[in-house]
Amino acid sequence: MSDDIHKLRPDGMLPSFLRDEIVAKMAYLDENVASVTQDASGELHFRMRRPLTESETETFNQRANRVIHTLVSTSRAPRITIIEDYLDRPVPHADNPMNTLLAEGEIVQTGHGLYALGPLVAGLCHELESRLFQLGRSQGATPYRFPPMLPATYLEKIKYFKNFPHSLSFAVHLRENLDLIERFAAEARCQHDVLTFPTESLSGIRQVLAPTVCHNFYLFLANRILPRDPMVATAHGTCFRHESINLDTLERLWGFSMWEVIFVGSATRVQAALEQATRASSALMQEFGLAYRLENASDPFFINDFGSQSSFQNIFDLKFEFRAKLPFKQTTLAVGSRNYHQDFFGRQLQITLPDGSPAHSGCIGFGLERLAFALLAQYGTQRDAWPDSLRTPITMNPERLSSR
Ligand code: ATP
Ligand code: ZN
Ligand code: MG
Repeated sequence: MSDDIHKLRPDGMLPSFLRDEIVAKMAYLDENVASVTQDASGELHFRMRRPLTESETETFNQRANRVIHTLVSTSRAPRITIIEDYLDRPVPHADNPMNTLLAEGEIVQTGHGLYALGPLVAGLCHELESRLFQLGRSQGATPYRFPPMLPATYLEKIKYFKNFPHSLSFAVHLRENLDLIERFAAEARCQHDVLTFPTESLSGIRQVLAPTVCHNFYLFLANRILPRDPMVATAHGTCFRHESINLDTLERLWGFSMWEVIFVGSATRVQAALEQATRASSALMQEFGLAYRLENASDPFFINDFGSQSSFQNIFDLKFEFRAKLPFKQTTLAVGSRNYHQDFFGRQLQITLPDGSPAHSGCIGFGLERLAFALLAQYGTQRDAWPDSLRTPITMNPERLSSR
């Protein structure tokens, strides 16, 4: 495979706050993009799996400028509000933990953006999950369990296909037709890691792999009058986001575990509950010894002009992120987020309060592999060097559990 660098100077200046987002979204321009970087002057450098032809180059550049235009025109410079800043907390580790984890066989890559986790990392994730579950319970949540899929009709209804289609993954199955099943059995084989088979043997898509946990709770409450204000759920689930060439190490996975606490109720109760749960989450991150910052954030849209839609207009101050320090590359990574959706889901799904008005909703979610990865990046892969709160598994120590 021959590599080739394609350079593009975008039309107009790119705002610095969108830089990372623009580079990340360039992954979706063309299947031949192998990696993207931007130099200090703002020029984009695409490493291509094969050189672009002249006519492809024109199309490619148009696509790039289209994405940049949408991102720039629908985003506003954030008023960064730092709520808490513990980024300077001293942490003992400075190397990329991936190297050790892979070299020592603690994790094994099973596919693009997919890793099997051995006891060290799985144990840490388990510990984080049980502590977060307790956090949910302390906020009045009751446990729920949800399927790892969402109906396509639901995602259509909430305009997900129009606005966030790029990282979706889909569930299909073989059609109930013996001839087609036999043909599939006879012809299916992998070529260069890709399964080839008669495409007519596949069903239509009714289910989409869930990109986040909380949607299933809104579906659960759809067309109901809430019996309590707020309804509070805690749930854990596997989520899927195909983030293309951005899938990289344990930081960004195709399939990952997310824990959430979800609030649905009146605006005042949901906002108060989010505040309180954020404080509890901060206390937990401190207990873990995490070097992090809590600040506001936004999810820019790059396909559609979502900025014009009222429910998502005031995007700043609707989302806050716990961003952990990654000492080995002097950056931060979102390990958790708090989101307030106003009455968007209440309206779309007819979730109503006793007075007939649409319910508001909000959630706090942490990515378990990411949080584990950030802790390993800060404290290393030797358990002896971990903070006590992580080293003494609470789940194995009933005394500590009951003293809480
Ligand atoms: P990012 O900006 O890094 O893509 P996000 O804003 O898309 O993150 P959220 O939608 O807020 O993330 O999801 C909540 C949490 O889920 C994140 O804080 C992170 O811990 C985790 N998460 C999100 N995407 C991934 C992924 N592809 N792999 C692993 N964890 C993820
Ligand atoms: Zn959520
Ligand atoms: Mg993302």
